[in-house]
Amino acid sequence: MSDESISSRLALLNSHLSPMASEKEAALAAVPSDSPTIFDKIINKEIPSKVVYEDDKVLAFRDISPQAPTHILIIPKVKDGLTGLSKAEERHFEILGRLLYTAKLVAKQEGLDDGFRVVINDGPNGCQSVYHLHIHLLGGRQMNWPPG
Ligand code: AMP
Repeated sequence: MSDESISSRLALLNSHLSPMASEKEAALAAVPSDSPTIFDKIINKEIPSKVVYEDDKVLAFRDISPQAPTHILIIPKVKDGLTGLSKAEERHFEILGRLLYTAKLVAKQEGLDDGFRVVINDGPNGCQSVYHLHIHLLGGRQMNWPPG
């Protein structure tokens, strides 16, 4: 194989791997904390987002770096200690159920009738980069298993 062919193949491989690597790097660089995150700014409309669903408890908006044709984040408006799922306590039963139910509602609204995936990343090993609990709703393409 020529050097040119090898380098074009490496460039192609890199273009596929880089987004994943940067997500992982962002997650490993993130410091788990209960401090306000960028999601508070989105909730307070201090920075723009593409909201697809909102009620008094929950906000759903499009992920800025979509990993599928449909990629939506569903978050509680009040964090109440839920930096991640690992911090869940019994008092969170209602909001946890509501977040999951909202994922179903939004999937229907987005026309994901052939299926979808929900993901919750937790902590450094789970590749969590924003410490405000969120459900990823992904759809619009065939998912693979096992996940990376
Ligand atoms: P996680 O890695 O599970 O913590 O997911 C955090 C997600 O937030 C990533 O998929 C990011 O692309 C997404 N994200 C970060 N900032 C924004 C933003 N300003 N608007 C929308 N999504 C964002």
